[in-house]
Order: sequence, then structure tokens, then C-alpha cells
Amino acid sequence: MPSPILVWFRQDLRLSDNPALLQAVATGAPLHFLYILDDADAGDQALGAASRWWLHHSLAALGANIKAHGGQLTLASGHASEVLSDLITRYGIEAIYWNRMYEPWSVARDTALKSDLKDKDIRVETFNGSLLHEPWAVKTKAGGIFSVFTPFWKAVQALGDQETPGDAPDALNGAADVEPGQALKELDLLPTKPNWAAGFEPLWQPGESGARAMFEAFLSERVSAYSDGRNFPATPAVSRLSAHLHFGEISPRQVWYWTRSRMESGAIPVDAAWSFLRELGWRDFNRHLLFNNPHTVSGNFKPAFDAFPWQDDEDAFKAWTKGRTGYPFVDAGMRELWQTGIMHNRVRMVTASFLIKHLLTDWRKGEAWFRNTLIDADLANNVGGWQWTAGCGADASPYFRIFNPFTQGEKFDGDGSYTRKFVPELAALPDKWLHRPWEAPDEVLRKAGVVLGKTYPKPIVDHGKARERALRAYETTKSVNSSSQQKVA
Ligand code: FAD
Repeated sequence: MPSPILVWFRQDLRLSDNPALLQAVATGAPLHFLYILDDADAGDQALGAASRWWLHHSLAALGANIKAHGGQLTLASGHASEVLSDLITRYGIEAIYWNRMYEPWSVARDTALKSDLKDKDIRVETFNGSLLHEPWAVKTKAGGIFSVFTPFWKAVQALGDQETPGDAPDALNGAADVEPGQALKELDLLPTKPNWAAGFEPLWQPGESGARAMFEAFLSERVSAYSDGRNFPATPAVSRLSAHLHFGEISPRQVWYWTRSRMESGAIPVDAAWSFLRELGWRDFNRHLLFNNPHTVSGNFKPAFDAFPWQDDEDAFKAWTKGRTGYPFVDAGMRELWQTGIMHNRVRMVTASFLIKHLLTDWRKGEAWFRNTLIDADLANNVGGWQWTAGCGADASPYFRIFNPFTQGEKFDGDGSYTRKFVPELAALPDKWLHRPWEAPDEVLRKAGVVLGKTYPKPIVDHGKARERALRAYETTKSVNSSSQQKVA
């Protein structure tokens, strides 16, 4: 009888196309299945509150799926090294299989673990289960690291198609006599007093089958509208897969392969398919950037921004978090985030730009807020998105591109259906004034039941003045000496 193998689930909470699991199954050894809530190892990059809600439900789904296939998922919390040591001793485990993670804290943890396990004669097998290509696999012609997306994406495409994804095993050879680990409830992942996540439940189905259903609905109902519709938050055009992808309930290889297959069969338009797949490219690109530049988890990719004169206006920050800035499109986004755990990409860019440029708040503060409140919080994508918006990231939007919070609303939510949904106190305003209520005539406001400063805030900053202030602040980045500029060329 071969010695047991431990399959350690991390950001790969699925049975299908899970290389670590499939390879472990192929050995024929009895298997232990483990999830460790070990984000204390992550320090201030620990799981946010909304992610914890998602994780609770995803683990419930994974546990049930493993059970239905003949195994048992053991749950544990604490330092991974201690939990693993304990199980190795208790069950005589010979090898541990896992799919790799790429955040700086998890790379440090895994490197230390591998060396420790090697010293204990435990075999460790690791795999790529969450990227199209790993951060070191896509290289410039000179063998270097990319810092611009388009050539990165070309290099990804040149690497060719993804392999056919693997099916879930028919059955799992679960080890016998596994003692129960912690109960899911004991991980204490759900909010209680108050249960601010109650609104998430009807919207999301965490877990592998929820991911598959979401992807199927996207491919059959929404993908054709993707290229033109993806910028309009009220248009059902995007996949809504980000949390499923973050937790690994579906793999990028599955998404790539099934999108390509439908495209080749003519079921979905070529341009829509490629414009969607390109976003998976951005997901890989952000991993590539963070893995190869780990200091950018909290440091500016462009050192010229290190001297940026951020301001710390706590009242303004609070108003932003609560969706009470007086700019309806920004407020709709921040309230969408609070109510649903997600925010549309266009609105993420506008709200982030508003915080950074209109309020001169350090991007790291916004990144931390998003990380705590997004169900799809993903360190690489979030840091990438914030640094892109701030202008201090790789291949970033230039700092002087300052999104106008009301014309963005007029352009991308012209009929106001998104804004009215999340800012209902303005619902009766005509389209013409919805995104700039401070310019509406008194009579129009009165008829719509809007009293600025009472039923809805006046703008907390004047757009024109805030814009000029932001551009003046940006001047400081230009005086940085050319040697540090060269570093990012
Ligand atoms: P789709 O448009 O359907 O795209 C498919 C998938 O591609 C997404 O699920 C996601 O995995 C990936 N993707 C899409 N857009 C991007 C992008 N711009 N960068 C990287 N990957 C992308 N995404 C996260 O997954 N987690 C985050 O914490 C996160 N924080 C962000 C913060 C800011 C300030 C900004 C501007 C963007 C952020 N994004 C983040 C990227 C993007 O907004 C979301 O991935 C997208 O809105 C998710 O919706 P979707 O699944 O319907 O995307």
C-alpha cells in the first residue's frame, strides 16, 4: 500500500482541471485533502472581510464535492508549517502536492516550507493551477521581464493555445480514518453583528458549480456584447468571474479553452472572444509584474512618485468609502461595492481616480479599502489596478489623465440606470442633471425631491480646483532625478 499523499488546496478550490489533485490521484495513493486558513502568515495582506464571506461558502462547496467523490476535506487554521507538521506525523504522509501561488508573502511562505519539508524527507510536488503562464515563463526577446502590457500579450499569444483542461476525477481515494479537523464555523469567516453580507447571498454562488454556471451564462447570453458593452456598468456584458477565478473555482485554462472552442465553432464572435481573453492576459500580467517586482505590493513601481505630496483628509476618505462624495457616478460605484461586494471595472477606475486625484489620497489607502470590501479582492490585480490609475504603475494611465467624475457618468451611464439603482435619492432627477445635480435649477431639484446638503451631499471638492491641485502635485514627480526614472524605462 503506497504511503498517503496530502493535497493542499489554496487558491484552487475545485476538482476539475486541478493539476495538483489530478497528479496526486494518478499515483493511486490514499489521499488527504486539506485547507489551511493561514492568512496570519500574510500579515497586513491578510484576507479581507468580503473575501472571508466568499471563502466560507467556497469551502462548504468544495467540502461537499470532495465528500461526494469519496474523500474528506480537513479544515485547519494557524501557521501552515505547524499544521502540515502535525498531519505528517499523525498520518505518516509521504508527499504534499499543491498548486503554486505568486503573492510575495505566499512565495516566502512556500519557499521556507519546501526547504523545511525537504529536510524532513517529505516529497513536495507543485504545479501551475491558476495562470495561463507563470510569471517566469513569459520573457522579452532579451530574456527579461515585461513592464508594458501589449508586448507581454503578444508574447502570451505566441506561446500558443492552452492544453485541454482536465476533468474532475470520477472518484477520490480518500485516506481511511481521517480525524475531523475544525468545523467550518470555527474558522469564523462570516460576519455576524451586523451581517453586512446579507445582500451578497442572492447574487453569488461561490464554488465550482457556481463558477461553471456563471461562465456558461456569460458564454450563452453576454459574451457577444462584451467588446462594445464592457465599459457600461448597466449593460450585462461582463463575465462576473473574477471572484471565482481568484479562489480558483474555475481555471484560466478552462476559461481560455472553452471560449476558444466556442469561437472556433462560430458560436461567439471572434472580436468579443479575443477582447475577453485579453483581460485574462491582464490578470497574468499583474502576476508577472508583482512576482518580478515584489516591492510594488506597497511601493510605487515608478520611484518618481515616492515624493508625491499625498494628503490625509480622513473626512473626505470616509465620504468616499460611504458613497457620499456628491458625485453621483462615484457614489454609485462605492455603494455598489458595499451592497454587492463587487464594482464594475469602469467605475473602479473612476472611483479610484477620484480618491487619488480629486482627494489626493495615497493609492495604498484605497487599495486597502478595496481589498477589504471586494469579494474578488486579489492582491496582484488590486495593486495593479490602483497603481495603473495613480500613474505610478507599470504601463500605467498617465497621472495627468484625470477622470472627470460627471462626464464619465454621462458617457458610460447616459440613461442613468446604474446610478439611479445605487443612488436612489436622485432617481427622479432628469438624465440631464443626474450626474451633476449641483448645476440643476432649484425648480428641477424641488420637483425631484432633492435637497442638496440634506437628501444628497453637495460635492465635497470642486472638480476644476481639485484637478488643478492634482496637476500641481504631479509636478513634484517630474523633479526626481533621471537615474530613478531610468529604472522604469
Ligand atoms: P471581465 O471583464 O469579464 O474579465 C474577465 C476576467 O479577466 C476577470 O474576471 C478578471 O480575472 C480579469 N480581468 C478583467 N479586467 C482586468 C484588469 N483590468 N486587470 C486584471 N485582470 C482583469 N480585479 C480583481 O480580480 N481583483 C481585484 O482586487 C481588482 N481590483 C481592481 C482595482 C482597481 C482600482 C481597478 C481599476 C481594477 C481592479 N480589478 C480587480 C480589475 C477588474 O476591475 C476586475 O477584474 C473586473 O471588474 C472583474 O469583473 P469581471 O469578472 O466581470 O471581468
